[in-house]
Amino acid sequence: MLRKLLLLVLIVKAFEVSAQDTYLHCGALIDTFKGVVLKKRTVVVTGNKITAVKQGYLKPKNKKIEVVDLRNKFVLPGLIDMHVHIEQEFNPHTQLERYILNEADIAFNAVNYAKITLMNGFTSVRDLGGTGVNISLKKAIAAGKILGPRIFTAGKALASTGGHADPTNGAKRILTGNPGPKEGVVNSVEDAKKAVRQRYKNGADCIKITATGGVLSVAKSGDNPQFTIEEIKAICAMAKDYGMHVAAHAHGDEGMQRAILGGVKTIEHGTYMSQRTMELMKENNVYLVPTITAGKEVEEKAKVKGFYPAIVVPKALAVGPQIQGTFAKAYKFGVPIAFGTDAGVFKHGLNGREFRYMHEAGMPVMEILKIATVVNAKILQRSTDLGQVKPGFLADIIAVDTNPVNDVTTMERVHFVMKSGVIYLNE
Ligand SMILES: [Zn+2]
Repeated sequence: MLRKLLLLVLIVKAFEVSAQDTYLHCGALIDTFKGVVLKKRTVVVTGNKITAVKQGYLKPKNKKIEVVDLRNKFVLPGLIDMHVHIEQEFNPHTQLERYILNEADIAFNAVNYAKITLMNGFTSVRDLGGTGVNISLKKAIAAGKILGPRIFTAGKALASTGGHADPTNGAKRILTGNPGPKEGVVNSVEDAKKAVRQRYKNGADCIKITATGGVLSVAKSGDNPQFTIEEIKAICAMAKDYGMHVAAHAHGDEGMQRAILGGVKTIEHGTYMSQRTMELMKENNVYLVPTITAGKEVEEKAKVKGFYPAIVVPKALAVGPQIQGTFAKAYKFGVPIAFGTDAGVFKHGLNGREFRYMHEAGMPVMEILKIATVVNAKILQRSTDLGQVKPGFLADIIAVDTNPVNDVTTMERVHFVMKSGVIYLNE
């Protein structure tokens, strides 16, 4: 009886906590959907959801209501990065680490990367490939065991033999083995189907393919096509059966066109995109994920002796400087644009630099903000609960000191972070 009573008390307590309101008094609230700045608003948060947005600064009805003073801040929806590698961070030892780190080592590193990403205002990320630790990380964050953004992950990316995401690239022969669909290496339509199903089984949310060569793999080509269109079509059709979309890493034009015609949702990087490819992207509503920050990083680090393996350096010097220009052209042409950085290629937490680089390339700040919230949420098929500060949405809310429209670099200094109604940062 006593135990039952105790249980009841606990349940009531838990209910009280979850039902307790928080009032955010916002000096300015940026509606990134409409592209307007609203002055003096109160955002009411109940549990993990936003339950009201009211004009003026609402007075709390009782002492249980927590008031957060953001009257001198610009408040906006939590940011979404569509391209991160949350488990890893490139450094001069990356090539060695591929052979000496166990999954537990990777996981301990990833705990910090996840935390720093969240603390910089990114409340959701799409993780485009790692070892599979990313799936465990997603679960641990969702369960509240560690701090981090909400993760949508591809698990392990798909490549063909020797392709950009072949996990054994550059290894001595005794270590390469014969990786197959389970490890993410596919060389036929049948392999493609099996690899997608394996990812579903492992707990992935989306599929990543490396449609062309890439910069940081220990392989010669940074841009050749690496899948047949039949393989890509099989991957996309299978992914669709499991409610997953497909993201395609692509630098070269031919591989990019195959990916678009094969049915992918996003093109990552898009470096050597032709006008015909831009037309195809518009026609098929395929988004470009620019990753300009990664382009800048590889260009800079390629000049640091020994940072990358020798085979990577010429690729980094060729591709890196092109990416911002490609984005500028694609945006002008009307290609659908998403927001994604490729964090992990550079230090996690610096994702906010992408705002500056996209703005430099000609996109108005308000439009970038919409893409990094509303548009990204739409691609993730979470338009009804992510990417807006609106009743019914998850309470993912951040704040910066100044109006980003006047100073875009303010997006690199986030001072308040709430995710699912929990405050993680309040400076
Ligand atoms: Zn990437």
